This record gives sequence, C-alpha cells and structure tokens, in this order.
Amino acid sequence: MYGHGVINLKTPEQLDKMAASGQVQARALQLAVSKARPGVTTAEIDAAVEKFIRSQGGIPSFKGYKGFPGSICSSVNDMVVHGIPGPQVLAKGDLISIDIGVTLDGWVSDAAVTVAVGGTEDPIALQLMDVTKQSLMDAVEQCRVGNRLGDVSHAVQARVEGAGFSVIRELIGHGVGREMHEEPQVPNYGSPGTGPELKAGMVIAIEPMVNVGGPEITMGDDGWAVYSSDGSLTAHFEFTVAITDAGPRILTPWHELSGAGSFA
Ligand code: MG
Repeated sequence: MYGHGVINLKTPEQLDKMAASGQVQARALQLAVSKARPGVTTAEIDAAVEKFIRSQGGIPSFKGYKGFPGSICSSVNDMVVHGIPGPQVLAKGDLISIDIGVTLDGWVSDAAVTVAVGGTEDPIALQLMDVTKQSLMDAVEQCRVGNRLGDVSHAVQARVEGAGFSVIRELIGHGVGREMHEEPQVPNYGSPGTGPELKAGMVIAIEPMVNVGGPEITMGDDGWAVYSSDGSLTAHFEFTVAITDAGPRILTPWHELSGAGSFA
C-alpha cells in the first residue's frame, strides 16, 4: 500500500531548496486564505495566487498538470479535493479547502488548508477542521528517522476515527521532490510499525482528507472534483515534511505564517 518504487532521498542542500519553494507556497496559501471572503469567486483567488507565485520566480505546479486549468484547487463544503477554480461565489460559512503546489528552482512544494469563509459557528465544521489539522500535526510528530510510514498513517487515522469522522481511503499523500508525486504513497490509515522505514532525506506530503460522514467519495462530472458520497462536510490539510536527523522539518510552514485563528 506504500508503493514499490525507489524513495528519493534529498541532501541537506536540496532540502534547503525545497524549503525555499515551501516558503513561497506557504505565503501563497496565506494570500489565498486572506482572499477567501464572502462574495469572492474562486477564480479571483486563483488569479491572485498565480500572480504571486510568478512574482516570486515560481511556477504554479498544478496548472497544466494532466490538463488541470487552475493554479489552486478550491474545494467547497462537500467537495473534498481537486475543485477547479471558477465563477463560484463564496458565501459566509462555506468551508473551502485550498491546495497549492509551487515549483521553485525545480523543486516542488505542496500544501493545503481548510478555512470557513467569513468564519463559522457550526460546531461540527469547527470540530472537523480542528480534528483534521490535529491529525496532520500528529502525523508530523511521527516523521522521525527509524519510525515507519505506518506510524505516520496510523497517527492520522487514530485522531480522525477517535473523533468519529472518516478518513478517505482512495485519496492519499505522496513523496515529493523534483516531481509532485514521488514514492512513497502516504495513506491516511495504517498500522504502526509497518511500511517503509523513515530515513533522513525523505520528503513526503501528508494530507489527511476527512469526511464528517462515511469515507466514500464520488467523482464530479468535470473529471476532477471529488465529493463526499453522502454530501457531508469534508476538510483537507497538508504539509510537505522532510525527515531529518534533527526531527521533522515542515517545509511549507503555513502554521507559522498565519495570524491567530486564520487557519481554523
Ligand atoms: Mg499533495
């Protein structure tokens, strides 16, 4: 379940280059979140993000990937991931997941956050965002040399299912580096002590995708959008993380850039 190819290890110098890409990525996410207000279209957010990434010398990694037309994925409410930005107008209380990839100097960084447009008082929405984000933080804590990938996967699953929510199984995280999708595959479920051993220089995109209801998903008519099959709310948080001898290194530190509460 973790893939069968070679896992590329990055040198410390390469990790610094990935961190530079990740800094642009995190700032792009911060910009996107600041733009996600009631009355704004997802196309407007997309345009602002693309302009920013290019102003930093970067390339929006998603644009043109297998024909994807946007620089961001914007996925609202019961849409899990891969939403194409467009004329959809955001309303107060919408849960929007924004996923951005940046290529800088040939190195890809990939991360996502979910926020409530204009804030929300819906206790389920707030808990969903909190639990999904916390499951990502739990997973990062397992990104240590000598652990196994199953420890990372299990950390997500334990937090999510402990709260009564569902981990989506068909959509998973991935290794990342010169390519957006490298080995290994990073499921959001698994057993501790199983899977590939984590080594210094591994870089993975960990991305819990969580439904309030059941774990089943349905493809949208555009061939990209993915929805929760039962129409329940979903959330998605993602970091690009390096395993180093000094511990986990978050290369897309949106959690540090954001003001209090900005990212749920
Ligand atoms: Mg990803």
